[in-house]
Amino acid sequence: MNRASLGDGSTCGTVREALGTATTHLAAAGITDASVDARYLVAHALGIERAALLRAPERALDSDERHRLADLLARRVAREPISRIVGERAFHGLTLALNAETLDPRPDTETVVNLALALAALVDAHDGPLKILDLGTGTGAIALALLAALPDAEATATDISPLALEIARRNAERHGLANRIRFFRSHWLEDVRDRYHMVISNPPYIPSGEIATLAPEVARWDPRAALDGGPDGLEAYRTILADASRVLEVSGFVVFEVGHDQAAAVSAIALDHGLAPAPLNWPLLRDLGGNTRCVAVATSGRNWKINLGIVDQGG
Ligand code: GLN
Repeated sequence: MNRASLGDGSTCGTVREALGTATTHLAAAGITDASVDARYLVAHALGIERAALLRAPERALDSDERHRLADLLARRVAREPISRIVGERAFHGLTLALNAETLDPRPDTETVVNLALALAALVDAHDGPLKILDLGTGTGAIALALLAALPDAEATATDISPLALEIARRNAERHGLANRIRFFRSHWLEDVRDRYHMVISNPPYIPSGEIATLAPEVARWDPRAALDGGPDGLEAYRTILADASRVLEVSGFVVFEVGHDQAAAVSAIALDHGLAPAPLNWPLLRDLGGNTRCVAVATSGRNWKINLGIVDQGG
């Protein structure tokens, strides 16, 4: 690669040229939003904020920066997501580090956090702290977003992966939340002993056979264990719901993220275990696109009934 180009004759001597070249390069590789990604990668190669690029279009790139940029572009062309390349992702107002053993937190999951926040207001915690259990915490996304929004809550977060727990712990420290969360390794509820007001999870829910059909950013780069929900995608829900009553307080809820067509099936599993799923037409279960992406389950139908009449299904 010559000094000022990406090896294809295109120049990237200045920030302006680098942005143009990077955009062209990414678009040619079939990356949508090439100009957005180009800004992330040029800023990352230079170690500056994206906004600073606009202020310094004529800033020259030195040869280290050009090499760094070429490496970053090659990674993106191999479909590595921007969040993995830069090592972090914005989620519900927090910046979260991620690694190879964590799912890349998604905007879908912000819907689950918002639902949980609405339900948190309905829990009767008898003046004690609201106790939250996040199963398969990954980066810590759900638990940390909830703690950031609920100053009186405490959380326990589990994951099967020690490396995920390590990064989640660091994310907790980064946001000053470490004193209200504890982490431990567990396969779903296996090693959980205490009771909680809210058990929440975004478990793996892709049917095993469909993983290969997902976008390469997901299929190649998200950890398989964070995606694979078994033959029909519902294995984790079955495992968790079979044992949920044991870890729920009397006034308690389970909140799940589910695949776009799984809400009815997951609700049916909850009913089989004597729990009370919220009606699927409840608006809070839907994302901004109108898809039902969450299931909320109460210990008893009474818990829905007492609440402002938003939900009334008897019990
Ligand atoms: N709870 C984490 C998240 O929502 C990880 C979920 C997963 O790995 N399936 O990002």
